Amino acid sequence: MTGRQASCACGQLRVTCEGEPLRVSICHCLDCQRRTGAPFSMNARFAREAVTRIEGVSRSFTRQGDSGGTVTFNFCPHCGSTIYWELSGVPGVFAVAVGAFADPKFPAPRVSVYGIRRHRWVDLGGLPDLEHLD
Ligand SMILES: [Zn+2]
Ligand SMILES: [Zn+2]
Repeated sequence: MTGRQASCACGQLRVTCEGEPLRVSICHCLDCQRRTGAPFSMNARFAREAVTRIEGVSRSFTRQGDSGGTVTFNFCPHCGSTIYWELSGVPGVFAVAVGAFADPKFPAPRVSVYGIRRHRWVDLGGLPDLEHLD
């Protein structure tokens, strides 16, 4: 099976994910805005076993999540791109930054989180089946 590969901006940190993601979401929260530098993040969850290869050096950053758990981000120490992270409340799952796949054909998000923080010009009307969560 040929997996998708997510890579940081400089290319030294790479993860390979097999199969289709369990969940693809966008998040408008302010922490995601700060992490990405973009008005929202786009995130794909994979079972940990589906992430078959992690190559390169990473550093991690842990912050408190809203649900009381923690989220630990793994990023490239050279270029700073965050590639994948783990949520203490969702064990056995890796989340991967969709932009790191650099694949415009990546499956569209099915879930939108933190709509209250959405930049008002972001129009999600092209995704009629999108599930909206607080
Ligand atoms: Zn890098
Ligand atoms: Zn967020």
